Amino acid sequence: MAHVTDYIRTIPDFPHEGIMFRDVTTLFADRDGLRLAIEGLVTACEGLEIDTVAGLEARGFILGGALADRLGTGFVPIRKKGKLPGKTIEQAYSLEYGEAVVEIHDDALHAGQKVLLVDDLLATGGTAEAGIRLIERLGAEVTACAFVIDLRELGGRKRLEGLGQRVEALCA
Ligand code: 5GP
Repeated sequence: MAHVTDYIRTIPDFPHEGIMFRDVTTLFADRDGLRLAIEGLVTACEGLEIDTVAGLEARGFILGGALADRLGTGFVPIRKKGKLPGKTIEQAYSLEYGEAVVEIHDDALHAGQKVLLVDDLLATGGTAEAGIRLIERLGAEVTACAFVIDLRELGGRKRLEGLGQRVEALCA
């Protein structure tokens, strides 16, 4: 039986020397691979209360859009600073070198809405934590955070579970 890992390749020294980058473009490009990923995430979300899906730029948009369609919900983008046209709230977070900022439209979610947060890969958890904070600042709740890959040794799962979050991932 095929597994999502069969479709993911590792590119050494991207974006910096010493980084082994997990490239999911090969997973997305293959119809069986993409279907495996979406089916896996749909199964991981079975029984959860989800009113909408929020995706983190950019690979979280591809997964999140397909997942929202399957779950019968809408989709809300969380984008890098300066990309969303309407009024936004922003959240800064730390990167290995420096800081990044993500934004969400301030009317994208409403109080009490249950949100599935989606991205392709969980590393330190900084990006997902920033997404969670944006969702919660709009009064909505994160039901679960779903990823294709969880790089366990980088501690993201522990970090998000420490915030009381449920974490789902298809492979390590
Ligand atoms: P974190 O904030 O958890 O440290 O990093 C996760 C974020 O960086 C995600 O948005 C993810 O898309 C991106 N990212 C970090 N490393 C990789 C990688 O090796 N492969 C891919 N596809 N994305 C990565």
